[in-house]
Amino acid sequence: MKRTVFIVGLGLIGGSIALAIRKEHDVHIRGYDISDEQLRVALSLKVIDEAPVSFEEGVNGADLIILATPVLKTEQLLEELARFDLKRGAIITDVGSTKVRIVEKAACLKDKKVTFIGGHPMAGSHKSGVEAARAHLFENAFYILTPVENTDVRAIIQLQNWLKGTKATFIELSAEQHDRLAGAISHFPHVIAASLVHQISKIEGEEPLVSRLAAGGFRDITRIASASPTMWRDILLHNKESLLQLLDSWTREMQCVKELIEQESGEEIFTYFQEAKDFRDGLPVRKKGAIPSFYDLFVDVPDHPGVISDVTGILAQHQISLTNIRILETREDIMGVLRLSFRSEEDRERAQIHLQQEMYDTYIL
Ligand code: NAD
Repeated sequence: MKRTVFIVGLGLIGGSIALAIRKEHDVHIRGYDISDEQLRVALSLKVIDEAPVSFEEGVNGADLIILATPVLKTEQLLEELARFDLKRGAIITDVGSTKVRIVEKAACLKDKKVTFIGGHPMAGSHKSGVEAARAHLFENAFYILTPVENTDVRAIIQLQNWLKGTKATFIELSAEQHDRLAGAISHFPHVIAASLVHQISKIEGEEPLVSRLAAGGFRDITRIASASPTMWRDILLHNKESLLQLLDSWTREMQCVKELIEQESGEEIFTYFQEAKDFRDGLPVRKKGAIPSFYDLFVDVPDHPGVISDVTGILAQHQISLTNIRILETREDIMGVLRLSFRSEEDRERAQIHLQQEMYDTYIL
């Protein structure tokens, strides 16, 4: 008999995990979502095999239960699970972007013969919903697991086996370490991106031109401010302690920068940027991180009619799909730059090889 996986929350992450599990295992996948529309789409795209009428019905006899809802909802669902009959030996996991409160809440399952292991696949997309789900979403990404001291080792191995179709790299951390690190590299940058956008929107009241000028680079560096407000509200509420500490150290950092500018300390300002550049340039480029990557390739193109169709034609010839194309600069008589966005690192690498063979100058920033 096929094993049963029950996924709750059929959005981007829940849907992608369902597809990744299906790639490697012959399973029966049940899905539950409060949105009938998401359920309907998940069934029609064959992301799930069955949509039980209730959360309780879905849980019944499931070998693996994955909670892929916003983090505040995940806490509530764990409480509900504690009231249901769960299959002996079942593994329960979640995908939430915060871990301490979820792992603490999961202690309510301690009297059940099941194992809860917190999880966070550190990859995403700017889209949400099951339509955006992809089996390869987590390829090359880090997938953090947060077992506790007495978690059954066999269950950790089994969970990794269940999830091997994600092709992610598994790392075990304590929930506290996870929240501290995810706070610094993902949650806090989302706060800063949103506040940069607020700053511009306030200036716009007096200087309407600012929005038009912000259209290019500013829009790019603040793209994470367009992520789901519901998801980010929940994450900030959950990771309060780490974020308050980060805000304190950021405020001190900004005070130092303010003093450097007030004192016109050119040398120290240079060092400030140089050190940031050196550290950033040393960050790995190939792994997916907590902030969704764009697989962008930049191509120098002459200002000549037909050049864009030539570039896209080369990609089409090699069956490489683009997710976006943008002309960054064209002025009379100078080279323009095309920014091509791909779905994966592999597509970008192949595109680079084929475009270079056709004498295009390409580079990755
Ligand atoms: P999403 O909005 O695409 O999907 C969430 C789904 O959960 C929706 O379909 C919603 O209808 C459903 N849902 C909400 N409450 C529910 C409930 N009580 N019962 C059943 N279904 C319910 O969001 P997503 O991006 O898939 O995020 C889901 C989780 O994954 C969040 O906890 C988030 O922190 C985590 N996560 C997100 C990303 C990302 O970049 N999007 C990355 C890693 C982890």
